[in-house]
Amino acid sequence: MATAVLALQGAFAEHEAMLDRLGEPWFELREARDLDRPFDRLVLPGGESTVQGRLLREEGMLVPLRERILAGMPVLGTCAGLILLAAQVSGDASRQDEPSPDQVGPWLGTLDVTVERNAYGRQLGSFHARAEFDEVGEVPMSFIRAPYVAGVGPRATELARVDGRVVAVRQGNQIGVAFHPELDGDTRVHEMFLEL
Ligand code: GLN
Repeated sequence: MATAVLALQGAFAEHEAMLDRLGEPWFELREARDLDRPFDRLVLPGGESTVQGRLLREEGMLVPLRERILAGMPVLGTCAGLILLAAQVSGDASRQDEPSPDQVGPWLGTLDVTVERNAYGRQLGSFHARAEFDEVGEVPMSFIRAPYVAGVGPRATELARVDGRVVAVRQGNQIGVAFHPELDGDTRVHEMFLEL
């Protein structure tokens, strides 16, 4: 089988390169008929969650993917991908630099967390950190206009914190991280995903 990489918008190519490094076959999900190809894992990349969410809905992929995640398919959501998974999304939809004042979430809504979008403000829009990641150890973390997890519901477990804020969670088959593990050359978060 293969990992499907959502390729509507954003940083999907970097995930594909990471999967190549790990010898994992992958293909891109761009439209509903791509869902007919066999896959048993899903990567939701960073990018712009409002754009990705709207395209997922327009392409008719939102409901089928939600059903597969709820049925237990492993999924890794990074940054915007975490926002797509979150059951609740807060954050300021009226910012001038937002592409649309429309829906900011929830989209797939399968992960029992509340995320705060663009949570670090303009000045700290991008930064690097190193922090403990569950049992993996310390990993490099690149944040780009990142969200953080403002609330972890009872079905989810936190995996990492930076400056006291939760930046990674797991709920069974779902891993959501606020940073970009595909950008730092450290394969361990992807390895954890491939072991789910
Ligand atoms: N700020 C983006 C959003 O709200 C996420 C940024 C990212 O994925 N690097 O979707």
